[in-house]
Amino acid sequence: MTLTTHAIVGAAAASFFPTMPYAAFAAGFASHLLIDSLPHWDEGSAVLRSMRIDPQGRRDMKIGKSFVLDLLYLAAESFVGLAAGILFFSVWLQVPLAIVLVGVVAGLLPDALHFVYFKTRSVLLRDFERFHAYIQHEYTNKLYLLVEAALVAGAVVLRAAIG
Ligand SMILES: [Zn+2]
Repeated sequence: MTLTTHAIVGAAAASFFPTMPYAAFAAGFASHLLIDSLPHWDEGSAVLRSMRIDPQGRRDMKIGKSFVLDLLYLAAESFVGLAAGILFFSVWLQVPLAIVLVGVVAGLLPDALHFVYFKTRSVLLRDFERFHAYIQHEYTNKLYLLVEAALVAGAVVLRAAIG
């Protein structure tokens, strides 16, 4: 799933807890796993050029020129999500900016943890990594981006309706 969608839905989830930053963080983090379990486009395989399967069958990102390009791409995607999240929830719906930022960070964090796991293989993250991979429902057909468009629209409309 795209980081743009994760950032916006994370901000939406957090926005239901405008005075409770820890709950906002938990909601943003949980939203990531919830929407990852819905059918979605497999962006990682389609776009990320530094992604590798190592000899032990484990995924990794190879550091190099492709990795820098991947990082720029992911940063741009995150930035679009951050900007949209601020616009929808903070500017339009008057959710405190700090809560929107907490939601965006929490919504993106699980995918950042992939990278931490790839580079550390920490046992602390191993079970989470397995769970995060297990829940994915990914497809190569780009039409599945419509699911993400619907999620973003649904999150914004729901938050606006509840107010
Ligand atoms: Zn994810």
